[in-house]
Amino acid sequence: MTPFDYHAPKTLRSAMRLVQAFGDDAKVLAGGHSLIPSMKLRLAAPSVVIDLGGIAGLKRVTAGNETITIGALATHYAVESHRLLPSKCSLLPETAAEIGDAQVRNRGTVGGSIAHADPAADWPATMLALDAQFDIGGPDGERAVAASDFFVDLFITDLQPGEVLTGIRIATPPENSGGAYVKMRQSASGFALAGVAAHVTLDDAGNCASVAVGVTGVAPAAYRARAVEDALVGQGIDAVADASAHAADGVEEFQEDHHASGDYRAHLARVFTQQALSQAIERAA
Ligand SMILES: Cc1cc2nc3c(=O)[nH]c(=O)nc-3n(C[C@H](O)[C@H](O)[C@H](O)COP(=O)(O)OP(=O)(O)OC[C@H]3O[C@@H](n4cnc5c(N)ncnc54)[C@H](O)[C@@H]3O)c2cc1C
Repeated sequence: MTPFDYHAPKTLRSAMRLVQAFGDDAKVLAGGHSLIPSMKLRLAAPSVVIDLGGIAGLKRVTAGNETITIGALATHYAVESHRLLPSKCSLLPETAAEIGDAQVRNRGTVGGSIAHADPAADWPATMLALDAQFDIGGPDGERAVAASDFFVDLFITDLQPGEVLTGIRIATPPENSGGAYVKMRQSASGFALAGVAAHVTLDDAGNCASVAVGVTGVAPAAYRARAVEDALVGQGIDAVADASAHAADGVEEFQEDHHASGDYRAHLARVFTQQALSQAIERAA
């Protein structure tokens, strides 16, 4: 690594002051699972590292009747093991449990994953499917951004210089709701070759009153499969297969590497959308 100064603020306010003072020279550190390897490879060479790990308030996860909140510094394991989340919104612990291995889940953070926006990360799909709001602090105060506006391109998000993601808010789903996350793991890291998160709420007749599908691993940025959602609203489980055929509609550029071709990832998106939606509807019912 190139040399850097290290700061470990104890409050969000002092962290924000440091971020603003050092501007583009600084990087905030969460669990370090992506930042440290990038620095070792000199893909990132910040002259200042601001470690958020000592700010206890950013690690909190709460599951209320109205809102679920996840602090940006909450680890994947904190979500996976939360006592109330299995009953309030099982899609969250189900997604967390799919990430990497036990060490990765104990150190990697939800906020770090979202801010880093790796095209193969699991959380973006689930955050899109749950219509999450991201709370962001910056030089001009605080703002909230919907997940659907946040993931812009490969490793690019709506976060602006000097801004810090502070937390995630999700409306607690009503009782007649269900979600599911289905992925194929890259066998070494566990990252998603393709991953689909589906969330539905059923009406009294058992049809989908609302549908949201988030897809990761397939395009440069995770996306909402809007064509699938439009085809399924007002319909029941019988319509899932036809609707899922649209899971890669509108994708202009596919992720492609020695693990999987773009065509294969598009195929996985369609198959996993069908599986995730079917499970979500069964759970909601
Ligand atoms: C071996 C291995 C396997 C993995 N497997 C998976 C997997 O299967 N699925 C998966 O989804 N992920 C996987 N990951 C990723 C991991 O789970 C982390 O979430 C991810 O690497 C981000 O790391 P971090 O939280 O430690 O953040 P860091 O590495 O500390 O930060 C990442 C980037 O985000 C920025 N950042 C961090 N927090 C904030 C914030 N609050 N506000 C603004 N910017 C911020 C940092 O400046 C940095 O640029 C794996 C990682 C490893 C090392």
